[in-house]
Amino acid sequence: MRDLAILGATGSIGTQTLEVVRSFPNRYRVFGLSGHNNIQLLIEQAREFKPQVVVVSSEEQARIFTEEVKGIEVIIGEEGLNSLAEASSVDIVVAAIVGTAGLTPTYRAIRAGKRVALANKETLVAAGDIMMAAVKEHKAELIPVDSEHSAIFQCIQGIRDGELKKVILTASGGPFRGYTKEQLENVGVEQALKHPNWNMGAKITIDSATLMNKGLEVIEAYWLFGIRNIEVVIHPQSIIHSLIETVDGSFLAQLGLPDMKLPIQYALTYPQRLDNSFEALDLIKLKEMTFSEPDTKAFPALALAYQALDTGMTMPAVLNAANEVAVGFFLEGRIGFLDIPRLVEQTMNAHDPYKARSISDVLAADNWAREKIRQLAEVV
Ligand code: NDP
Ligand code: MG
Repeated sequence: MRDLAILGATGSIGTQTLEVVRSFPNRYRVFGLSGHNNIQLLIEQAREFKPQVVVVSSEEQARIFTEEVKGIEVIIGEEGLNSLAEASSVDIVVAAIVGTAGLTPTYRAIRAGKRVALANKETLVAAGDIMMAAVKEHKAELIPVDSEHSAIFQCIQGIRDGELKKVILTASGGPFRGYTKEQLENVGVEQALKHPNWNMGAKITIDSATLMNKGLEVIEAYWLFGIRNIEVVIHPQSIIHSLIETVDGSFLAQLGLPDMKLPIQYALTYPQRLDNSFEALDLIKLKEMTFSEPDTKAFPALALAYQALDTGMTMPAVLNAANEVAVGFFLEGRIGFLDIPRLVEQTMNAHDPYKARSISDVLAADNWAREKIRQLAEVV
């Protein structure tokens, strides 16, 4: 029996993690759950999975929760997340909070030597070197949940040092695949929230529409697999979740239906594979798979991420924080779709990168970027 802490249990990854847990009742037990705004869902989850601890974001939510559910410890805020992440009875921490809010608890889980099933890619984008050093130092296991990185992680099993030549990340292209820059000027929030293949939280759905998601994934892949040779290929069917090329010219790929339960399950069971009842891929039904080059003119966010990775130091943290704020502005209807990469670029141009030696250095760069982009947005 392994005990889980699910940070961000009420989100898209969190609820799908609970579906996986539901199908392996003799292997996984929920020790702790966290939610943010969706207190009603957290209450339902707590009733079903009977965790020992829940983390909520305010006193008011704690009050609502304890009125509805008895016998569960309720802790509040970031300190609550941190203590759940490092609780001694927890074996696996599922890091499924969105954005920078997940950074410190993920870091604390790593420092506590846990297995971390990582969905929160922003953590690695902002603080990759610090996170990876902590993984090594504290003998933590960082297993990717992001479908592309899970695919690569599966493909490199058995590949030795020096044998990996290239990583190829596939991208669906999002709802605006094939759009020109002119067409993108006027797209609205509702259209951007309609992802063709995946049902995800709002922030990552917008990131998929701008291709910033793929950019963040390039940086995530760099930290996870220690390779600079990373290519992005548009593959609208989202069946090949990603590929690697080895030095002898072989290409290895992982395929499956677009269903996050698969990579979530693998992150929990690794190195084992367990039978499940999820719907399986049918190649005959699929018929064809297609590939094309990403259009970085219409979707400059991808190029910005490569640029941030090249510059290094605090630049990826600035890209990440500026993007998070810009996506929030777009969702609130305050800026247009193309203002997202435009403002991120302006924020990056205004930044003087430095080497972050600690998480607080990273958070300082993150805060700087948030302030900067707020100032810049007023002039859009
Ligand atoms: P959601 O928006 O669906 O869920 C986010 C979760 O984080 C919710 O539980 C939410 O609580 C909680 N949360 C949000 N803000 C805060 C905060 N300030 N403090 C504490 N908790 C907070 O996102 P997703 O599940 O889609 O994504 C989660 C992460 O996984 C992201 O980093 C994303 O990039 C990554 N990911 C997601 C994929 C997917 O298919 N969804 C695929 C690959 C990666 P509440 O809802 O109660 O407010
Ligand atoms: Mg992904």
